[in-house]
Amino acid sequence: MFVTKEGEDAGRWCPDGRGLGTHIPRGSARAEEPQASTIAETSSLDPATTLICHKHADYIVALDKEKDTFEYVATEHLRMSGVYWGISAMDLLGRLDDMNKDEILSFVTECQHPCGGFGGNIKHDPHLLYTLSAVQILAIYDRLDLVDPNLIATYVAGLQQEDGSFAGDEWGEIDTRFTYCALSCLSILHKMELVDVKKATEFVAACGNFDGGFGATPGDESHAGQIFTAVGALAIGGGLSHVDKDLLGWWLCERQVPAGGLNGRPEKLPDVCYSWWVLSSLSMIDRLSWISGEKLQEFILSCQDPENGGISDRPDDMADVFHTFFGIAGLSLLGYPNLKAVDPIYALPVDTVARLGLSRI
Ligand SMILES: [Zn+2]
Repeated sequence: MFVTKEGEDAGRWCPDGRGLGTHIPRGSARAEEPQASTIAETSSLDPATTLICHKHADYIVALDKEKDTFEYVATEHLRMSGVYWGISAMDLLGRLDDMNKDEILSFVTECQHPCGGFGGNIKHDPHLLYTLSAVQILAIYDRLDLVDPNLIATYVAGLQQEDGSFAGDEWGEIDTRFTYCALSCLSILHKMELVDVKKATEFVAACGNFDGGFGATPGDESHAGQIFTAVGALAIGGGLSHVDKDLLGWWLCERQVPAGGLNGRPEKLPDVCYSWWVLSSLSMIDRLSWISGEKLQEFILSCQDPENGGISDRPDDMADVFHTFFGIAGLSLLGYPNLKAVDPIYALPVDTVARLGLSRI
């Protein structure tokens, strides 16, 4: 569910527009005129106050048909996560049936390696990030029967290190993101017994900081994205007692800027994807009411593309499927009407989590 982009810390959390490394102002790349019927539909809804659901659904359905665009090629390495963001958003919108299920399931199974792990695309190396996305996609479609859970779980368990942490792949990078991916994956597959869960949660606890937040490895600064993975991993592994809920709650609610949006660290600009990283963390520690949901909703809605659909990181930037999903998921956590409920720990629709037998209550 995350982005794999080397380099600057924040770049691992956000594909910057369309995975292109820069924020792109809206209108600079998509020149096509909206069709007459589209204009008529848009005018009946005010995007400043309403989620234009049909536009977002049409935007996501169209994404896979634009295979000759630069954006499509530039995001090729993370296609598996792109599919997860797309179908999760469509499911929350109640439009999952509009996606080509057979094509998606066949893509997912083609990305699996004999070792059990999945790549971000066909013939790409396996990685925990894409293995989780693949398992999430199969879970949403209730088609985990297409894969051997033992094979996947053995691959995931093989990446646990002596200190309880997880490497993302055979190259050995360590990060609390990978602990989250591993535990989420194993929990969905009901194979938690294959790893040392206590050691895994103790490693996450060791990544905690004096401000209540968590970093990627012990000693790294707190970042909202890492906090989601740390708290999520602790929630799945039964280690939430390692979290100082009030201290962390204060750090998280200070991420809300006067414009209503949330940032990932102090002094940074607000960004729609942090609606998810921050809100889900607040939800997991029962502090969701510590920010203004109303102002955050206004910010997310202001990032919609009223003509072509999709949600961007900030108002007037180019929309992408990553921010579209996390914007909709954030609104779902805020209780926006007519959206399916999303689970803050698994980033999956609540009905999927319930079907898997993983509900918290
Ligand atoms: Zn972002």
